[in-house]
Amino acid sequence: MRPHGLPESASHPVVTPLSPSVVYASETPDALDDQYEGRVHGYTYSREGHPNADVVARRLDDMEGATGGVVTGSGMAAVSSVLLGLLSAGDHVIGGDQLYGRSLRLMKEDLPRLGIATTLANPADVAAVRAAIRPETKLILVETVSNPTLAVADVAGLAALCKEQGILLAVDNTFTTPRAFRPFDHGADIVIHSVTKLLAGHSDVMLGYVVAKEAALNDRMRIFSVTTGMTPSPFDCWLAERGMLSFDLRFDRAEATAARLADHLATLPGVKRVIYPTREDHPDHARAKALLQGRGCNMVSFELDGGREVANAFTRGAEGLSFAPTLGDVGTTLSHPASSSHRALSETERAGLGLNEGFFRVSVGLEDPDTLCGIFEQAVRSATS
Ligand SMILES: *Cc1c(COP(=O)(O)O)cnc(C)c1O
Repeated sequence: MRPHGLPESASHPVVTPLSPSVVYASETPDALDDQYEGRVHGYTYSREGHPNADVVARRLDDMEGATGGVVTGSGMAAVSSVLLGLLSAGDHVIGGDQLYGRSLRLMKEDLPRLGIATTLANPADVAAVRAAIRPETKLILVETVSNPTLAVADVAGLAALCKEQGILLAVDNTFTTPRAFRPFDHGADIVIHSVTKLLAGHSDVMLGYVVAKEAALNDRMRIFSVTTGMTPSPFDCWLAERGMLSFDLRFDRAEATAARLADHLATLPGVKRVIYPTREDHPDHARAKALLQGRGCNMVSFELDGGREVANAFTRGAEGLSFAPTLGDVGTTLSHPASSSHRALSETERAGLGLNEGFFRVSVGLEDPDTLCGIFEQAVRSATS
């Protein structure tokens, strides 16, 4: 025999209880019928859904101005729920040409294997995307701000194109977050997040989220994610909720520091270029300004003058900063695309994207801004002088 729940209390906890139970017991077969028929709400088996996932989903729904979103075990599970849960053999999908590495792999390797044709195109160039459309094109997947060159997709232009052609527009909003950009307000049909990154924010949980405007699409993605076992663990959801309680504050602080760091880096000898959306020298500055309403987010990219030796000296000199391939942590992290995310490309292909050995992407964290600028200044000086 197992106990039924917690001891009675006239008062209630202020923190969401963690509910790790895999199964939920009902009183009678009739009561279970009521649940399955949707006459009452209740949980059955936690792969099908559990309270901690629902708490996170409703919070994210509110942030994106959505209803009925699905929380998944990782950001890639969310991407997969869209591409594998909604597309069928014979369909065609267009992806942004600088999508997250695993999303690109799904597009290039797995979808074709399952009979779904894919084309990659530059999401900042609506004419190029239009040229890629076929009669069987069902969906376009783009990221609002690309990794690591922080190019800004023409989401409004793509939304108009998709509407005209009857194609779904899915936007991976991980880098921008709903704090800076809400894709539904700009005509997107589906929004995807790696909650692992800024939303959960502490590099201690992997989680994803996907939501469509249309309820029927949410049902299909939920069923697919449940069937394929993409359900997140209650503890991960519990941790993510905890992280999300401070998300707005963390994001605003990291963003303000990022803007300062970008301007500071631009003054340093040895820094060839800096990429940050609110800077006038950003290649898509006008579109960034229109879409992000003056917000720049927490990611800064820059290029040092020099090759691998200079890059090695820079990470060695960046005292206290983690050289680690993630983003959105409370601590500032550095990523070097040439040796990580873009290592599979040839040097010429990387050069075509502007990703030379001196190129770094910074995910700005919550350190004191003066201290952080000082660390970068010191590391750049020691690497390039
Ligand atoms: C990290 C990331 C993903 C994948 O998310 P995981 O939680 O690592 O599975 C997808 N898209 C973008 C833009 C990401 O940065």
